[in-house]
Amino acid sequence: MTAKIIDGKAIAAQLRARVAAEVQRLATAHALIPGLAVVLVGENPASKTYVGAKSRAVVEAGMRPFDHHLPAATTEAELLALAGRLNADPAVNGILVQMPLPSQIDAARIINAIDPDKDVDGFHPLNAGRLATGLPGLVPCTPVGCIKLARSVHQSLAGLDALVIGRSNIVGKPLAQLLLAENATVTVAHSRTRDLPGLSRRADLVFAALGRPEFVRGDWIKPGATVIDVGINRIPDGAKSRLVGDVAFAEAAAVAGAITPVPGGVGPMTIACLLVNTLRAACMQAGLPAPEI
Ligand code: NDP
Repeated sequence: MTAKIIDGKAIAAQLRARVAAEVQRLATAHALIPGLAVVLVGENPASKTYVGAKSRAVVEAGMRPFDHHLPAATTEAELLALAGRLNADPAVNGILVQMPLPSQIDAARIINAIDPDKDVDGFHPLNAGRLATGLPGLVPCTPVGCIKLARSVHQSLAGLDALVIGRSNIVGKPLAQLLLAENATVTVAHSRTRDLPGLSRRADLVFAALGRPEFVRGDWIKPGATVIDVGINRIPDGAKSRLVGDVAFAEAAAVAGAITPVPGGVGPMTIACLLVNTLRAACMQAGLPAPEI
């Protein structure tokens, strides 16, 4: 079998176009232009790339960007003070603080300080709790993107055996919650899991989010399964380097029914879902119904 390649770039472009249309409608009908503050601390090259891509996407969607690039020596108190100002600014509907933060800043304290209604990353404990208890809230972007990609292949995920490899607060755990909400039967694997290949061979859906280059092999995949590769790993390639996922793509694509590439799979969906969250946050704050996108 040769897998269908799930084109995350194309699916994300459709989503972004729908967001842009909705932003235009809000501007016309309610004079509301959603605003997203993107905060970068320091000079981490990967973070700079992500932040640049997010800010460009905000502008392309017709939203208002508020970019804050702070020096690497920024103190926790200074960042908390900025979070407070952004929380109080009515033009800012969403706040994103790019992780990782320098070691002198406690990331959990920053996440806790962001107004949960502006927490477009969905990392605040209140939003994590809402997701876990089935209440509406802002949900982390990468897991939402993963679900949309899986749903581009399967009309329904109900009853499917889903394996999530990784249990981080930003990917694995919220993804498992979303899969439960989709009525999948969910297994969450982590570094202490026994017989990961065996668990994977039983799964109709495999979500790899462990941060280990090409760790999931082709012979771990059940024939016809759907594989969503969240991993972004830069590996040496001669004098240069290249990006690979957590799945050995060529091997897995020979067995799977459908698979996401890296790059061009989950990554573009993360940014598109950030725009959706910013739009939702703006509507919520204005007392308008959140658009179904
Ligand atoms: P973390 O490092 O926070 O979590 C990794 C998880 O994988 C942990 O739960 C860990 O287990 C588990 N794990 C590590 N090694 C193994 C192993 N050998 N077998 C089974 N499980 C293992 O990573 P993130 O969740 O932040 O990110 C995961 C990957 O996704 C990374 O490559 C990251 O770059 C990428 N990513 C991509 C995004 C995108 O937009 N495409 C967005 C966010 C992340 P334990 O808990 O036991 O330590």
